[in-house]
Amino acid sequence: MGKSSKDKRDAYYRLAKEEGWRARSAYKLLQIDEEFNLFEGVTRVVDLCAAPGSWSQVLSRVLIKGEKFGRTGLQEKQEATRRYALGLDKKELVREETKALAVKEPLKPREGVRIVAIDLQPMSPLEGVTTLRADITHPSTIPLMLKALDPDTYDSTTTTASSPVDLVISDGAPDVTGLHDLDIYVQSQLLWAALNLALCVLKPGGKFVAKIFRGKDVDLLYAQLKIVFERVRVAKPRSSRASSIEAFVVCEGFCPPKGFKASLDKPLGAGTQIPIPEDEPSPEKKVTRTVREDGAIVLDFGPESEDEDDVEEGGRRWIPPFLACGDLSAYDADATYHLPNDRVSLDPVQPPTAPPYKRALEMRKTAGGAYGKTKTQR
Ligand code: SAM
Repeated sequence: MGKSSKDKRDAYYRLAKEEGWRARSAYKLLQIDEEFNLFEGVTRVVDLCAAPGSWSQVLSRVLIKGEKFGRTGLQEKQEATRRYALGLDKKELVREETKALAVKEPLKPREGVRIVAIDLQPMSPLEGVTTLRADITHPSTIPLMLKALDPDTYDSTTTTASSPVDLVISDGAPDVTGLHDLDIYVQSQLLWAALNLALCVLKPGGKFVAKIFRGKDVDLLYAQLKIVFERVRVAKPRSSRASSIEAFVVCEGFCPPKGFKASLDKPLGAGTQIPIPEDEPSPEKKVTRTVREDGAIVLDFGPESEDEDDVEEGGRRWIPPFLACGDLSAYDADATYHLPNDRVSLDPVQPPTAPPYKRALEMRKTAGGAYGKTKTQR
């Protein structure tokens, strides 16, 4: 698909180039923020699987430059639209907006901001963001991340941050193979890795946002998250295609069970359960644990899920609230938009530094095209 045809078919791809974002994913984070006010009071953040860096750009612009997006930004946009609808002509609107901008309070950069971004791929520098090239599934990434967060107070004997962070975000995605079950499995491994890193650095009350693929056994994941967070919700931003199984878990109020320690030796995964101490069934979260005869641990989320259909053998199924987010007037990610013929298609803001397909492209070029040279061409 060519650049300009992709512009038509993917409004967010086009918009990202026009508004200076490195990837269309920026809108997913902005729309999640619209719904959850994600960045309120946040100064220290870890951005996992961050390349090419549009989420880090959002962080840099909101925390370091003090720009407003999310709910506040949206209100301003709606106000402008309302004024336009009230009959002010375009010129008037521009004048009104310029006036509004002039009286707008000055940007307020936050103090003590620290943003650490990690990815397998190299990432071009961004103002105020420390970038690390590392694999989030590898234990050696934890000390690197802790050192980047607190270079002066880093203690190599501990696996937790000396100054914990307010928010961990992860947009991790594997190179999809098209084999559904395999893709879902690899994606879930990235999510477990992100959660393990989050457990090492989050402060009590902190937030965790991560991409999920809503596969068959996604309930297990929700159940585990519900043990360490007070609120777990699933968000589907308008910029994420409705046809995709992608969604984002938004977990707020980090509250690990008493005595819980993030461990590198026994990282949390699909086979390992977060231990809830027998004597502490966490009344406020109404989670109780029973061990079945076959040794399986069953979590019961009590009255939150009264529906007969949600009751599974030996325990209740807990289904987190599912929220569509993003202003309804925003572009529909699945729609194709008509564009004027004289429109110039822009180049991406930041072409990938070293994409995994780079070698394949080079090989194709050397071979003389997609299928190599035919006999007559040679
Ligand atoms: N949030 C990014 C942005 O806004 O620009 C886009 C992230 S992109 C959808 C997914 C990223 O996950 C890729 O850059 C890929 O390199 C990264 N990734 C996949 N597996 C990883 C791993 N094991 N460790 C670190 N990064 C990984």
